[in-house]
Amino acid sequence: MKKEDIDRLRAEYPYYVSDDLLSVPDGWIGPLETFLKKLRTIAWPEDHDKVLVALQWQVGTNGIMVYVTPVLGIKKWDPLMAIALLEIVDDLRGETQTTCRVCGSRDAWLRNYGPKEGVFCDEHVPGGADAS
Ligand SMILES: [Zn+2]
Repeated sequence: MKKEDIDRLRAEYPYYVSDDLLSVPDGWIGPLETFLKKLRTIAWPEDHDKVLVALQWQVGTNGIMVYVTPVLGIKKWDPLMAIALLEIVDDLRGETQTTCRVCGSRDAWLRNYGPKEGVFCDEHVPGGADAS
């Protein structure tokens, strides 16, 4: 992801966005932004601007995994919030597994081409669409 994209996201979600995200492929910015937007809506309205969780990102060839640790006091959580958090974590993983890492097309899947392994659409698969 480009530095200017990181800076734009960091301005909106200062606690959640770090330079760790520089390794996110450009095509995955959509799922990442969706995750961050949904994360903000999980808390009760009076807590929307509070930090819910600490995030640790793991960007792989086959998707983004995010690990979460609660920061907002546990008494501020209810079961629906916890389930919503699990859902958006799972959605991010799932969406990046089906989103082209180059262009963001949702018609993509994991290709296994050794060092060029990754989630690509037909247009951006290394070596061309018929490289299988
Ligand atoms: Zn593509």
